[in-house]
Amino acid sequence: MATEDEISLLVIVVDVNPIWWGRQAQREPEFTLSKCVDAVMVMANSHLVVNRTNKLSIIASHCQESHFLYPSKEKKLGDVGSDVSSDGKYELLSGANDCIAQEIRSLMARTVVKGHLTDTLLAGSLAKALCYIHRVSKELEAGQDMKSRILVIKAAEDSALQYMNFMNVIFAAQKQNVVIDACVLDSESGLLQQACDITGGLYLRIPQKASLTQYLLWVFLPDADQRSQLVLPPPVHVDYRAACFCHRTLIQIGYVCSVCLSIFCNFSPICTTCETAFKIPLPQMVKTKKKKLKAAS
Ligand SMILES: [Zn+2]
Ligand SMILES: [Zn+2]
Repeated sequence: MATEDEISLLVIVVDVNPIWWGRQAQREPEFTLSKCVDAVMVMANSHLVVNRTNKLSIIASHCQESHFLYPSKEKKLGDVGSDVSSDGKYELLSGANDCIAQEIRSLMARTVVKGHLTDTLLAGSLAKALCYIHRVSKELEAGQDMKSRILVIKAAEDSALQYMNFMNVIFAAQKQNVVIDACVLDSESGLLQQACDITGGLYLRIPQKASLTQYLLWVFLPDADQRSQLVLPPPVHVDYRAACFCHRTLIQIGYVCSVCLSIFCNFSPICTTCETAFKIPLPQMVKTKKKKLKAAS
C-alpha cells in the first residue's frame, strides 16, 4: 500500500490523430474519439479518488502538436478544486472533466490537417510527459517520494521516422524510473512494445475497442506494486527490429557502425552519421578468387 507521503503521478497520453479517428468514426460509429475521452476521464477520476495524494496529467498527442488537456495552462492546478460544482459532484473531478473536455474541443477546432503531416507526434508527447514528471518531482517537499508512470492510449500506426526520438525517450524514462504502459486500440506497435518491455510497463492491444473503459480500470489503473497480485494478460512477444538510419525501414539484420552504433541496411565504406571511413578487405578477396581460378585452370 502506498504511504501518505508517497505521491503517485499518472500521465495519460492520448493519441487524438484526427485522420485515424475520422476513419474510425466511419468504421465503428459506436466508438468515437469522444467515447475514448469519456473512458480516459473515468480512468483519470478513479486515479484521483484512489488516494488523495495522487496526481494526474493528460496530454493529447496530435499530428501537429502535443497539448496538455489537464492541468491546462489557463487553469492552474490549485484552481480546479475551487470550482463550484452544479450537481453535487466532487469539485476536483468535475473541474478536471470540464477542463479536459474544453481543451480537447479547442484543440480539435483550431488544428487543420495539412496533406503530408499525418503521423501522431507520440515521441514528442512522451518527451513532454517526462519533462512534466521531472518538474513535479522538483516541486516536492522534503521527505516526499514520488512514483510516476505514463499510460499511452495509442490509435494510429507507428511512425518509423520517429524511431530515434522514440528510443531516446524510452531510455530517458528508464533512467528516471518512469514506467510506460501502452493500451493499443488498432495495429500492434513495435515501438511501444519495446518501451513497455524496457521500462517494466504493461503492453496490451485490446481485443474490443468498445470496452476500453473496462480495460483501463482493470488492467491499467492498478500501479506496478499492486499488479504483482493480479492475474493480468500475458506479456507479448516484443518486436525488437530497429529502423535503419538511411531509409527508416525496420530491419532484422543490418550493418552497425562500430564507432557510433548507427544502423544501416546497406554496407557503406563511410558512416554517414559520424563520417568514419572503414578499411575494406576487398583486395584480399580478389586475390583468393584469382588463386582459385588459377588452380582450376
Ligand atoms: Zn536503409
Ligand atoms: Zn558511425
